[in-house]
Amino acid sequence: MKILITGGAGFVGSHLADKLIGEGHEITVIDDLSTGRYANVEHLEGNPNFRLIIDTVLNDKLMEELIRETDRVFHMASAVGVRLIMEQPVKTIETIFHGTDVVLKFCSRYRKRVLVPSTSEVYGKGVSVPFKEEDDLLTGSTDKHRWAYACAKTLDEFLAIAHWKETRLPVIVVRLFNTVGPRQTGQYGMVVPNFVKSALNNQPITVHGDGNQQRCFGHVFDVVEGLTKAIETPECFGQVINFGNDEEISIKGLAEKAIEMTGSKSEIKYLSYDEVYGEGFEDMQRRVPSLEKAKRLVGYQPTRTLDDIINDVANQFREELKTDSANA
Ligand code: UDP
Repeated sequence: MKILITGGAGFVGSHLADKLIGEGHEITVIDDLSTGRYANVEHLEGNPNFRLIIDTVLNDKLMEELIRETDRVFHMASAVGVRLIMEQPVKTIETIFHGTDVVLKFCSRYRKRVLVPSTSEVYGKGVSVPFKEEDDLLTGSTDKHRWAYACAKTLDEFLAIAHWKETRLPVIVVRLFNTVGPRQTGQYGMVVPNFVKSALNNQPITVHGDGNQQRCFGHVFDVVEGLTKAIETPECFGQVINFGNDEEISIKGLAEKAIEMTGSKSEIKYLSYDEVYGEGFEDMQRRVPSLEKAKRLVGYQPTRTLDDIINDVANQFREELKTDSANA
C-alpha cells in the first residue's frame, strides 16, 4: 500500500515508518522538522519505498496531492511536550488544530483511511483511574496554558468523529498515554529521556514537585503495533481508543530505577513546578489507561516493560555518545 505519515520524522512517526517499510509498503513522510529530526529517518533514505518531503501539513496544495495518491494516512504531525506547549502557546494550538483540519478535509474528499492521534492529556484532572474512553474530560481554566494542548486535541477528536458521523469517513482516534522509547528527545520536557540521559552522565536528576505523581509508560514498539492494527480494523472506524501501558510508577520511583539500572552516581534533586514552568502550573497525580477497548478491538496487549524501555533508551544514548566521540 501507499502510506502517508505526517510527522514521520518525529519520535512515534519514524518508528511507524520503520515498521511499515519492513512490511513492504511504500512510505511518504511529510515533516517540517520543527520537532522531528532528520536523523530519525536518515537510515531510510535510499530505500526505493521511502520518500521524505520536508514541508508543513499546513501546505494545502501539497497535502491534497499527497492524500489523493495514498491509501492510508497516519497523521502524526503535532506539537509535542509540555515544555514546548508552555513556551510556544500560539504555535501549539495552530499546529494541532489547523494541521488536523487540513488532513481530515482531504481524507474526507478522497475517502482515505486516516488515524488521528490524541493524548491522555485530554483526561486532564480526572481522578477516577483507569481512564476509559467514554469518561468525562476535566481540564483546567484557560489561564493555565497547559490545558490548551488537551483542548486543541479534544477539538481534533470532535472534528474527526464529526467526519465519521456526517459522511462515514474511516477515521480512528487514538489516545496515546506517555509513549516512550528510543529517539524520543528530552528537549521538550519528557521525563524518561531526561532521567536516563542525566543518569548516564552522572548528573543530578530533576524531579518536579514531590515526585509522588504517577505515570504509566508505554513502549513505542507496542504502541506502533497497536496503531497499525487499528487502521486495518473497520470496527475501529469512528472510535476513540486508548493505547499505552497500564503499569504505574511514581516519578520518584522512575528516577530511582533509572539510577539503579544504569549504575549511575546521580543524585535526585527536587524542583517545584513554579520553578520549572512558572506560576500556576497544574500537574496530574495519576494517569492510567483502561486498555480494555484496545484489547477488545485489536487484541492489544503491551509486551514491553519499563525495564525494557529504560534499557532501550539508555542503549540509544550510549550509541549516540559513541558516535559523538568518534566524530569529535
Ligand atoms: N517530570 C520531572 N522531571 C523532568 C520531566 C518531567 O519530574 O525532568 C515530571 C513531570 O512534571 C510529570 C511527569 O514527570 O509529572 C511526566 O512528565 P512528561 O512531561 O514526560 O509527561 P506528562 O505526563 O506530563 O505529559
